[in-house]
Amino acid sequence: MTRIVPVLGDITQQEVDAVVNAANNGMRGGGGVDGAIHRAGGAAVLRDCVARFPDGLATGDAGYTTAGDLPTRWVIHTVGPDYGSGQRDRSLLTSCYRRSLEIADELGATTIAFPLISAGIYAWPLDDAIAAAVDTIAESGTAVEEVRLVARDQRIFAEVERALSARGL
Ligand code: ADP
Repeated sequence: MTRIVPVLGDITQQEVDAVVNAANNGMRGGGGVDGAIHRAGGAAVLRDCVARFPDGLATGDAGYTTAGDLPTRWVIHTVGPDYGSGQRDRSLLTSCYRRSLEIADELGATTIAFPLISAGIYAWPLDDAIAAAVDTIAESGTAVEEVRLVARDQRIFAEVERALSARGL
């Protein structure tokens, strides 16, 4: 049984087997979580992205790299849909969670931390971004034992807690 744990904090400081990056199609770094992960992980993360994803990554897909200086073994990069630019197909957002957990299972990760994919620069409405995250993780059938949902501020953290308790999770 997978535990979904709300965490108030910084994704780059999570001591878990894998952290998930809210990446973009280019896979060469960016703003928000992506910038923070590349800054904290160092050049090794970018080097691995270039080597493993020469053509970038499709929206809704996920792939992994090593984690450089981060206190985790792997970074699982996933590309959420850019709601603000008109990408509003929700199945692309739920696919990010499903694909990331599939990769975590392939890697044998037992603990993983997700940010709220698409909920920042990509402007997905927060309540639905949280619902997509919680429902998709809960229904995934992953072997991961602990999935952290990391919120950077108190308001978002409270919304994540509310969504979990509304579902009895
Ligand atoms: P996207 O481009 O997919 O929208 P962002 O990185 O802009 O991704 O934001 C995704 C979510 O992660 C937002 O809720 C944002 O507030 C949050 N966030 C940004 N930086 C961090 C961080 N260092 N740790 C955890 N969450 C973060």
